[in-house]
Amino acid sequence: MQNLAHQRCFNHAGREAVARCPECGQCFCRECITEHDDRVVCAACLKKLTQQPFARHSAFAWLLRLAQCAFGILMIWFFFFLIGDNLSKLPALSHEGTLWQVPWIDQK
Ligand SMILES: [Zn+2]
Ligand SMILES: [Zn+2]
Repeated sequence: MQNLAHQRCFNHAGREAVARCPECGQCFCRECITEHDDRVVCAACLKKLTQQPFARHSAFAWLLRLAQCAFGILMIWFFFFLIGDNLSKLPALSHEGTLWQVPWIDQK
C-alpha cells in the first residue's frame, strides 16, 4: 500500500493507481475500481464476486433451510413428546371424558 502512488493502473498504463483490489492484488485507477459490499474491488473481480457467490450462497442457503427443517421437525417431535408425556402423567380423571366439566386446573 505504501508504494501505491507509484503504481500504475492494471488496465491503463498511463494512469496512476488509486486503490489496490483485495481480490486479485492488482492496482487500479479510479475508473477501474468500484465499491461492492463496503469493499473496493476491480471490475473483473466485481464480475466474479457477483456471479460465483450466487451459486455458493444458494447452496449454503439450501443447507441452512435443510437444517432449519430438521430442527423444526425435531422441535415439533419434542413438543408432542412433552404433551404426550404430560398427558400420560395426568390422573385418570382426565381420561373419563369429564375433563372439561371439572376445573382441574385449579386443583393443583
Ligand atoms: Zn480485482
Ligand atoms: Zn484504469
